[in-house]
Amino acid sequence: MSIQTEVLIVGGGVIGCAIARELAQEGISSTILERGEPCREASWAAAGALIARANEAEEGPLLAFKQQSLGMFEDLCSELREETGIDSGFRKTGGIDLFPTEEDIAQSEEFLGWQRKYGIEVERLSASDLRRMEPNLTDEIEHGALFPKFTQVRTPWFTRALLTSALKKGAKLETHTEVLGFITEGDRVVGVKTDREECFADTVILAAGPWSQALSQLLGREIPGVPVKGQIILLNDRSRPVEHIVHYGKTYLTPRDEGRIVVGSTEEWVGFQRRNTLEGIAHLLTSAKGFFPCLDKSSVEDVWHGFRPLTLDGLPFIGPFEGLEGFLCATGHYRSGIILSPITARVVAESMLGKPLSFDVSPFTPNRVHQMEGIDLSPRSDLH
Ligand SMILES: Cc1cc2nc3c(=O)[nH]c(=O)nc-3n(C[C@H](O)[C@H](O)[C@H](O)COP(=O)(O)OP(=O)(O)OC[C@H]3O[C@@H](n4cnc5c(N)ncnc54)[C@H](O)[C@@H]3O)c2cc1C
Repeated sequence: MSIQTEVLIVGGGVIGCAIARELAQEGISSTILERGEPCREASWAAAGALIARANEAEEGPLLAFKQQSLGMFEDLCSELREETGIDSGFRKTGGIDLFPTEEDIAQSEEFLGWQRKYGIEVERLSASDLRRMEPNLTDEIEHGALFPKFTQVRTPWFTRALLTSALKKGAKLETHTEVLGFITEGDRVVGVKTDREECFADTVILAAGPWSQALSQLLGREIPGVPVKGQIILLNDRSRPVEHIVHYGKTYLTPRDEGRIVVGSTEEWVGFQRRNTLEGIAHLLTSAKGFFPCLDKSSVEDVWHGFRPLTLDGLPFIGPFEGLEGFLCATGHYRSGIILSPITARVVAESMLGKPLSFDVSPFTPNRVHQMEGIDLSPRSDLH
């Protein structure tokens, strides 16, 4: 058996599903090829925090890309609810950044200035504001900042809604179908070989998260990067001790409606190591308890992990490789793939239709490989 469609999408994570939906909306038929079940990797593991902060490292096109995408969520989630009946868990939770150390306090004016420069709404919080907004926060922290516009989705719900909508609009999904190679004719990619069949299409889109790197090498191309493992714990406390998405350093607590709190997340450069570790969980629990001592009494309901697709310069890869027809990349979204899924899908669909792009994605071109400056990709973790 072989599949023939306009577009083949390799990888059924949030990026692949969002693209399939957007293409279907434009009348372009696509089939998602997913080697397992859809949205069970990073796109399931993610906390679903819809946030963007400005800082020196985030200056530039990535922040603007995120801001544009964040602006699409409210309408998208209500469309998804109308189309599928599924609540994506979009909530206007608001966020609080903590400034616990003298150094954080000293840098806070500059930090707030960065947000204002990039149009991100932010308010300084005094000790009494913090107590009022987060009554269970430790007394030891007296400074912080409120991001009133921060929101969240429940990623398993959001991705299910995206996929259900895509399928309703005519997209197809092949699960348990692993792409093992590409079929080329000259400099054109005309299809893929899977462990079950050969599939042909006018365009193949690579949206395989951190596995995109190895797949691109099968075409003699490079998406330099590594998977960055993140561990998360899910706490349950019916007293709802946390009200906002509370953040410090790499730790954030995202409260859900029903008293659950997602505490994330580690950054571990350990390849595809599929397990939670005592060290990782202890690190998250200690941080969470340090901010909210009452969490000592809450239940630990679950732990999980996922692999963020990081590229060598921290920017996504979106668009074609020079000299390779019929092939597009949509990958490398690192810590922000949920946030960036609506805008990525939009520009991919627009580029296929030859329409003007809603966002200039030239900074994310896969052809920048030879100029990429390196993030240190060597094995390490932030646990020590
Ligand atoms: C702990 C953690 C917390 C996070 N929190 C947030 C957050 O709060 N907000 C946010 O925006 N982002 C967050 N992220 C990042 C976000 O999850 C990722 O950027 C995003 O999910 C990447 O989506 P993707 O579709 O590119 O990749 P994936 O979700 O990894 O999907 C890729 C898919 O491709 C499939 N695949 C791989 N190889 C093949 C093959 N050969 N053939 C067929 N299929 C294949 C895989 O099975 C997988 O389903 C978090 C990530 C982690 C790990």
